[in-house]
Amino acid sequence: MVADLVQSFNAMSMELQEAQAMQTRYESNRKELIAGISHDLKTPITSIMGYVDGMQEGIADTPDKMNHYLDIIKSNAKYTNQLIDDLFLFSKMDINQMTYERVEVPVHEYFSDIFEEKKLELEDRGAKLIYDCDVDDMLAIHLDPKMIYRVISDLLNNAIKYNDKTVTEIRCLISLAYNNPLTLRIDIADNGQGIAEEQIHAIFDTFYRADAARNKDVGGTGLGLSIAKRIVEAHGGKIWAHSQVGQGSIFSFTLTDEQQRELA
Ligand code: ADP
Repeated sequence: MVADLVQSFNAMSMELQEAQAMQTRYESNRKELIAGISHDLKTPITSIMGYVDGMQEGIADTPDKMNHYLDIIKSNAKYTNQLIDDLFLFSKMDINQMTYERVEVPVHEYFSDIFEEKKLELEDRGAKLIYDCDVDDMLAIHLDPKMIYRVISDLLNNAIKYNDKTVTEIRCLISLAYNNPLTLRIDIADNGQGIAEEQIHAIFDTFYRADAARNKDVGGTGLGLSIAKRIVEAHGGKIWAHSQVGQGSIFSFTLTDEQQRELA
């Protein structure tokens, strides 16, 4: 009797300790997030204020200089806007208020539409897009089309954005990872500069940007891959990356048909 009581007391105290540890982790993530947001919002706004001051004080005294100042103000405002959009989406995911609208899509058609659309944009930016869909023609899967479009679009955009125009080719492959529950695998490979081994574990973290990239004016928010990770996980999948410096990176993710999983 006393032994039972001691046992349940111990179990309760363990549970309490675990809950406290979880709360501490949560608080520390939150603090990091707030520090990151304040820093990242302050930078473009300070720049906007500086250039507006410059214009008011008449430093931009030729039409060319004026246009140059306006371009900088516009690109900083655009970045602030993107940061706020990403943050809004991220916090919706963080408090589990994100609703996914899964519908059944034909695999071939859905992915080729995305890649065909992106092909032209990537060609304009100097890279050839090659894609292959190695699944049955009739295969269909339940997913949120807008959200998965966002993941693919971010990965393709990153391939160009973070490689200083060195990427000439992006290869995408859609294949079947499992039959039951239906799981697709998507690989997106670039032949860019690659990511250093010591950085690769952190790239899916919120607000992480490799230092070199942070300094370059590429306009990232450091939220792209952490949002992609959450979207993929909400689709019962995983996302990961392999990279070799000087040779390129491969980003891969899986998508499981949640409806089929429920039936299985
Ligand atoms: P952002 O939202 O700022 O674009 P991400 O979360 O998408 O940031 O990416 C995090 C970091 O991962 C980037 O700062 C960059 O250093 C690195 N990265 C992502 N994709 C690639 C890629 N294809 N090649 C090289 N580096 C990449």
